[in-house]
Amino acid sequence: MSADDPSYRKIVKVDILNEFNSKSGDFGWCIECRKTANFYCKDLRLPICSLVCKKKYLKSLEYVNKTYEAYSKFSKVYVHDVTCLINILMIEAESEPIFS
Ligand SMILES: [Zn+2]
Repeated sequence: MSADDPSYRKIVKVDILNEFNSKSGDFGWCIECRKTANFYCKDLRLPICSLVCKKKYLKSLEYVNKTYEAYSKFSKVYVHDVTCLINILMIEAESEPIFS
């Protein structure tokens, strides 16, 4: 058995439609627009239909990463506030009986 054996390199094309009635391409459907994807981006490791969609996808990925970065800074402040609040409540709870 060898990985170069042609019997292991057989490409099986399926003839199925997605939710938008687009036929599956050589690599399924485009990650950006869900149309037939006959290309595979080695950089993204994702199926893609065109260079236009690749650029759109990279732009949206950049936006998500920037948004997450900003959210991440705020969330650290919120986690600190909640932790302080829980600590205060725990101190208060220990000083008074829970059930009277
Ligand atoms: Zn596309």
